[in-house]
Amino acid sequence: MWIEPLAAGTPTASFEARWQRAVEMALATWQAELAIQPVATPEQAQVRLWRRKPPLQSGPDGALRASHGRALLLLRQVQRMGQWQLEPLVEVLISPGQGPEAIQATSLHELGHAFGLWGHSDQSGDVMAVSPTARPVLALSARDRATLRWLLRQPGLSP
Ligand SMILES: [Zn+2]
Repeated sequence: MWIEPLAAGTPTASFEARWQRAVEMALATWQAELAIQPVATPEQAQVRLWRRKPPLQSGPDGALRASHGRALLLLRQVQRMGQWQLEPLVEVLISPGQGPEAIQATSLHELGHAFGLWGHSDQSGDVMAVSPTARPVLALSARDRATLRWLLRQPGLSP
């Protein structure tokens, strides 16, 4: 896991620090459930989290929609101990243009996708709810945890 570092000394430094605190709180929530190893460079990471607004995306009706967060799953070929293999790489984009609680809730949700929960819940109290609610969800629900445990029991995965 790699998080875009703060750009020190810029006019927006305090704004960026606020973003980073919110993102790190969301990451800490997942770290309580999963072994997540921080790495120093984006090249080493399987999950990269960037401080930027996702580009507009066209919905099923063809209209362009804006969002504050997005997780994109890519596959890349990497060489490990002389062997080429395919590994997932997830690029997570979290916009800094929200309040701290909304940034934290967006990060929790998008990191859930990054850690393998690609589906959505129809229950508004879940981190993985299909659409954000007026009140940000800042903690995993019992249902989110149950889904994660189910995922970790699948063959080929380990916690
Ligand atoms: Zn989602």
